Amino acid sequence: MEKLKTFTNNGNKFSDSEPCYCGHCNNKIGLDVYLKIYNVVNNDQGLAKYIQKYSVGVCPLCGAPIILNKENNNVLPAMREFDEISFLPKDVETLYNEMRDAYSVQSYTCCVISGRTLLANVAVEEGAEENKSFKHYVDYLVDKYLPATKNKPWLDKVRELGNDSAHKMIIADKEQAKISLTFINAILKNIYEFPNSVNNGE
Ligand SMILES: [Zn+2]
Repeated sequence: MEKLKTFTNNGNKFSDSEPCYCGHCNNKIGLDVYLKIYNVVNNDQGLAKYIQKYSVGVCPLCGAPIILNKENNNVLPAMREFDEISFLPKDVETLYNEMRDAYSVQSYTCCVISGRTLLANVAVEEGAEENKSFKHYVDYLVDKYLPATKNKPWLDKVRELGNDSAHKMIIADKEQAKISLTFINAILKNIYEFPNSVNNGE
């Protein structure tokens, strides 16, 4: 069991702010640190050595609390990468946001598998035949919404994601999750956000 020790600066923030991302407002910030937590280990001479493990602070922009892990620079709450998309139907929005959350906590396989479900449902919603392969749905959505990007190398990688059959266990890595989210982001904006923004005169 690690022995942790907490230091404050008499209730004031420490003079050095620490660079990180805020998972609440998605901005790059200098974290206002109010608490530093150290791991205490004994060195070869039996003397206590303090290694900083966490900084606990407040985002100067939005005022929300943040825990910064000094060992791996992870931030809690983790930042959601990929931007929010307006005008999504509720269930599509829920799944898209769950993919963003999964990506932000390195759950890349969950992200990719959710992406397959999302794409299949959106494609059928947009007129594709039911019970077709993942590749069929990717091709359908590309032809309908992204024809100008047909030859982009990243699109080939999206299609590769569909080469694994659904019943086979796949473990996805960060790049695959990123490709999946990038593609879904583009498709959802084309289907839901752009047309509705125009209709609403934004
Ligand atoms: Zn913030």
